[in-house]
Order: sequence, then C-alpha cells, then structure tokens
Amino acid sequence: MSIIQSMSICFLLSLGLFTSCSEQKKYTAYQCPMKCEGEKTYTQTGKCPVCGMDLDGIETKNK
Ligand SMILES: [Zn+2]
Repeated sequence: MSIIQSMSICFLLSLGLFTSCSEQKKYTAYQCPMKCEGEKTYTQTGKCPVCGMDLDGIETKNK
C-alpha cells in the first residue's frame, strides 16, 4: 500500500514539475552546472562529457 502511495505522490510531483517547467520557459542553451568547460554551451540537453552531470538549461536573453 505505502509503495503505491509513494509512487503516486512521485508521479504527481513529477507531473507538477513537468508542467511548471514547460510554462513557456524554453532553454536555448545547456551548460554544465560545474562549468567544466567554462562558458561552453550545448544546444541540446545531455550530460557533461567531463564530469557526467546533467547539463543545466540556461536562458539566453534576446535583445
Ligand atoms: Zn561538467
């Protein structure tokens, strides 16, 4: 019972996170949170080739 409850809570939480993230917040660049490669950015999300951490989405502002 408790497993099902925690699973459904996780599902609802992830659903909430997903919907809140997708509210017109589009990342145009991705960067290692540790900045292993300095200011190098990627156009697609993924993992840092240096430390293996998930790349962080960064917002690049247009003028
Ligand atoms: Zn890194």
